[in-house]
Amino acid sequence: MKHIRNFCIIAHIDHGKSTLADRLLERTKTVTDRELLEQTLDSMDLERERGITIKSHAIQMQYPKDDQIYTLNLIDTPGHVDFSYEVSRSIAACEGALLIVDATQGIQAQTISNLYQAVDHDLTIIPVLNKMDMDSAMPEEVEDQIIDLIGCDRSEIIRASGKTGMGADDILDAIVDRILPPVGDADGPLQALIFDSVFNSFRGIIAYFKVVNGEIRKGDKVKFVNTAKQYEADEIGVLKLGMVKRDVLKAGDVGYIISGIKTSKEVKVGDTITHVQRPCDKAISGFEEVKPMVFAGVYPIDTDDYEDLRTAIEKLQLNDASLTFEPESSVALGFGFRCGFLGMLHMEIVQERLDREFGMDVITTVPNVPYKVYTKQDEVLEVHNPSGLPEPTLIESVEEPYIKAQMITHADFIGPIMTLCLSKRGELVNQHYITADRVELSFDMPLAEIVFDFYDKLKSISKGYASFDYYTTGYRTSKLVRLDVLLNGEPVDALSTLTHFDNAYTLGRRMCEKLKELIPRQQFDVAIQAAIGAKIIARETVKALRKDVTAKCYGGDISRKRKLLEKQKKGKKRMKQVGNVEVPQKAFLSVLKLD
Ligand code: GDP
Ligand code: MG
Repeated sequence: MKHIRNFCIIAHIDHGKSTLADRLLERTKTVTDRELLEQTLDSMDLERERGITIKSHAIQMQYPKDDQIYTLNLIDTPGHVDFSYEVSRSIAACEGALLIVDATQGIQAQTISNLYQAVDHDLTIIPVLNKMDMDSAMPEEVEDQIIDLIGCDRSEIIRASGKTGMGADDILDAIVDRILPPVGDADGPLQALIFDSVFNSFRGIIAYFKVVNGEIRKGDKVKFVNTAKQYEADEIGVLKLGMVKRDVLKAGDVGYIISGIKTSKEVKVGDTITHVQRPCDKAISGFEEVKPMVFAGVYPIDTDDYEDLRTAIEKLQLNDASLTFEPESSVALGFGFRCGFLGMLHMEIVQERLDREFGMDVITTVPNVPYKVYTKQDEVLEVHNPSGLPEPTLIESVEEPYIKAQMITHADFIGPIMTLCLSKRGELVNQHYITADRVELSFDMPLAEIVFDFYDKLKSISKGYASFDYYTTGYRTSKLVRLDVLLNGEPVDALSTLTHFDNAYTLGRRMCEKLKELIPRQQFDVAIQAAIGAKIIARETVKALRKDVTAKCYGGDISRKRKLLEKQKKGKKRMKQVGNVEVPQKAFLSVLKLD
């Protein structure tokens, strides 16, 4: 245990975590040449393209120092708020963290929130100033920011470049010298923390863990404490570039276990592995069930693809336990599924994977957050779908999820950011000057206000310079209503949304205006109405128009006439019949993109 160091890397996206990690792997000869992927740690295609590490991994390095060989376990963490629970479990498995800050950019929001988690877990922080090779590096200024943030000495900050390899040896030395070895009772009952799992189509689920106390041997009968399931440790080992089998892993070690588990749902990140015989007293603290925070309807474009879509989503769920789904149907869109995602990025990833890996073209409806509804009958409902909200008269109260939002920006943008956050029902909690012209702002805000387009707006008003991060803080009572849209008196379920009462009138009016643009003229007037319960709050009309497409072909040319009719039929295919009104498919999606 004395010669083990477990560490992770905290960095804002693009500050150079993967590049620098690669340098460490090279220096320790864990990676011998560049036959490997350009960035070893980001192995999923999608990840590489997006330039973010979506799923955490771990890798073991050997580093000789002072006549000793040290085992360094780098536990990689995902870089996006959607995956912050996984980050917290990875941090919990470490004794130290490299804090990487881009010397040209300075400290950003993501850096800070992950840093707080690391400090909470008493990790040793090694500050690293990266991208020192760049002309635009501002080392003194960014060092000041780091000193202000973590209260370290200037001499503790390592200047580095993932590009040139500068500082890599200093970082490895600092990992050995400054980070404490893991502590644990090597003879106690087994207690191992699962910090990640991956799905392998041949081997099933591979769970990554850190042994906190005791030891685990190949063939042991083990139990996962929170799920209460039992397995045999068919194979255990350590993670180098690939998996390397071992017969035993001891307190302080980081490794993997394969035990015939078929689906990712069975393995929960944060769970504790112990022995069936001689179990530990209690689970490692900090376990949480990850709950989806964004829900949306996912429908096949072609209704015949419903079963294929189900198969595809089921397959995705095998390796993505945080994806949930249940069948739902919509009068307008037919049969589909209501899916739950960790956040908007997760939703985009699932959509993209459905397309790439399964060739499924889907329509995703406007996302919403989960609400807690208290009924007059003293029931508590969790509502994931506008159609699940009871009639207003039956509702006692509604609660919605809240977040703490942190933004870091140049002082010039404080005004517009305040305006934006206040318009999203935000309440300013704190305003802190990191340096003379960089400010950290924190707000309490409803999650619903940020899931849709908040980040895009923030980027545009701050010219791309504000960084943003958030974590959920619980539920608060909210004046929530369901806004329905009626076409010629018929409610259109796929167009219903849940919204705060104060926004309902504006939203209703704008939805009607937008639909008026999107719905083509038909042979009769189409009334578009927005309603809360029985109350109509906005109305527009699409005027009738008799459109005879064959009128132009003065009788004569019959083949030309037929062609036109064919064309008209095709055009109709992309329409949905709602009551007697034809609505173009795209109306269901663009209706909420109102700005
Ligand atoms: P991550 O998102 O934190 O993992 O960042 P990456 O390692 O993917 O790096 C983001 C971008 O910065 C990539 O285009 C890298 O090539 C570049 N980069 C990373 N480190 C350095 C560095 O030290 N110097 C320079 N000039 N570019 C770097
Ligand atoms: Mg990366």
